[in-house]
Amino acid sequence: MTAASDRPPRRLLLVHAHPDDESIGNGATMARYAAEGALVTLVTCTLGEGGEVIPPESAHLTADRDDTLGEHRIGELSAAMRAVGVADFRFLGGPGRYRDSGMMGVAENDRPDCFWQADPDEAADHLVAVVREVRPQVLVTYDENGGYGHPDHVQAHRVALRAYELAADPAHRPELGAAWRIAKVYYNRMPRSVIEQGLKETADAAVFPGTAATGDVPGVVDDAVVTTVLDGTAYAGAKAAAMRAHATQITVAGRYFALSNDLGQPLLATEYYELVHGEPGGVLPETDLFAGVAP
Ligand SMILES: [Zn+2]
Repeated sequence: MTAASDRPPRRLLLVHAHPDDESIGNGATMARYAAEGALVTLVTCTLGEGGEVIPPESAHLTADRDDTLGEHRIGELSAAMRAVGVADFRFLGGPGRYRDSGMMGVAENDRPDCFWQADPDEAADHLVAVVREVRPQVLVTYDENGGYGHPDHVQAHRVALRAYELAADPAHRPELGAAWRIAKVYYNRMPRSVIEQGLKETADAAVFPGTAATGDVPGVVDDAVVTTVLDGTAYAGAKAAAMRAHATQITVAGRYFALSNDLGQPLLATEYYELVHGEPGGVLPETDLFAGVAP
């Protein structure tokens, strides 16, 4: 438990589906707030057991062979969090409580131990306990489509938003801690013009055999939907190092990266958000997730 007197004045909670999502989506944001002395707490919902593996020497880790990828990815996440200076990272309900569900439509979706099959209310209570302990002013997660439709990302959205509601209700499970209302909730976003330009540059650089399509990138929206732009230029190196730490999942090459499909994408140090609950702190776009938040 975090004693009230020990809590830094600014506290950020991020809820993600798999190890690596946090570094790709929010690596610069996490590094920036950690460097500024904010408490940054990451809750990852699964170990990513169903992932593919890029390095041939690690191919034996996959679910259809040794099925030890989840444990391995705990180590990758630990290294990534060292790279961005984040000490408080946890797994929803503890490591291995919810298994990776695989892409939408695969047989793993039906496994009773997978995150997709979890009761969102029950899963949310694990997060309610974290929210009431940490008392974050800001929550970052995915939109209702999970950014791109992966079942674990959709479920992470449901659980995060359910926990946001339940944590604030004093009548709900008082033994999990005193009620806490998170002031601002954000979705991860990617402005269409930014990703289109970035993908064009990626294709021109030709570092990877192919280039991702706009539709492969999570959270793409019209530019006007974005409320908040986090300039993480000073933390680009930390973000790249965090992504490199997820070596089974990501190949980083200069200002570009690829997942196991080997399709290049731009590695962007500026990260984008949409405020969906709470009041913006002044004129849009905001440049700080904590804008307008009282400590
Ligand atoms: Zn993911």
